[in-house]
Amino acid sequence: MLVSSDTNFRYLTGFFGDAGALLVGREDAVLLTDSRYIEMAQQEAEGARALMHVGRLEEAVGEQMERLGGARWGFEAEHVRYAEYQRLAGFNVELVPTSSLIEQIREVKEPDEVAAIRHACTITVQALEELFVRLRPGMRETEAAFWLESRMRELGADGPAFEFIVASGPRGSLPHGGAGAKPLALGELVTFDVGCRFLGYHSDITRTVAIGEPSAELRRIYAVVLEAQQVGLAAVRAGVLARDIDAAVRGVIAGAGYGERFGHGTGHGVGLEIHELPSVGARGEQTLAAGMVVTVEPGIYLPGVGGVRIEDTVLVTEDGCEILTQSPKELRTFGVSGSRNLQGGGLH
Ligand code: ZN
Ligand code: ZN
Repeated sequence: MLVSSDTNFRYLTGFFGDAGALLVGREDAVLLTDSRYIEMAQQEAEGARALMHVGRLEEAVGEQMERLGGARWGFEAEHVRYAEYQRLAGFNVELVPTSSLIEQIREVKEPDEVAAIRHACTITVQALEELFVRLRPGMRETEAAFWLESRMRELGADGPAFEFIVASGPRGSLPHGGAGAKPLALGELVTFDVGCRFLGYHSDITRTVAIGEPSAELRRIYAVVLEAQQVGLAAVRAGVLARDIDAAVRGVIAGAGYGERFGHGTGHGVGLEIHELPSVGARGEQTLAAGMVVTVEPGIYLPGVGGVRIEDTVLVTEDGCEILTQSPKELRTFGVSGSRNLQGGGLH
């Protein structure tokens, strides 16, 4: 099999470079990469011989396929570009498309993978809690995002898991509203969807908090999302169909009259990628197994008003799940009097 996805060859060999290809033959496995990465590959790759190629990767891949033998080679249909495929098709082997083979192996985490995700979650929660007590009206969303990223790195993160979502006030109705120049204001809810990477593994958490006193409507949608999230968490265990978790969550939100305001899926797998299998949505045909790491993240989004999302990253166990992003979920208010730690104004 030809493994073209850098995440997949990283998973299989431990090589953290982002250019190359892994060829697994019957008797031999070869990791091809270029001069920028060859030394790293020779140090990091286990179970495959690291070889340097000059010129086009596909030329070297084609030669190795012929050399390693085997008339039929599987390739990752989702990770090979059409032009690359055309170049590979010029070699004397049959190319057989495969889909998500290694992604499926990656779903159930090994203990050292769980440990890395757990640590990424711990760093994220600590940084987020430290940020919350520093929130104040007038702070820009981008300031909050920058402080958070910097604090995560101080705490040992490789870097952010993705571009943080900090969506305050009416921007909260944008499920993927990146941090903008808007200042936080009293009476608003602010949604923080953040995470970091540790040893290549991701964490993912969303908390929505208030600045001052939110309206009754915002409090109401917060209560509905919180209930939906708790119902979702209670449904997670080995042996459950992913779509049944989604249905449980969606049932709570629809029952409260906000079904139309929850457009995205309930969750996703987390690992070497921030979004990976299994998908926890309405079409999630997969059965959960112990050792999978997934998110549960319902939301309600009211255009022109605001939004709420609450998300945890959890480890699936035989009889339930373990929440890896342990952080309070009752509606909390920050940025008003009583927070003496806000004096001095700045974030630091
Ligand atoms: Zn998230
Ligand atoms: Zn997520």
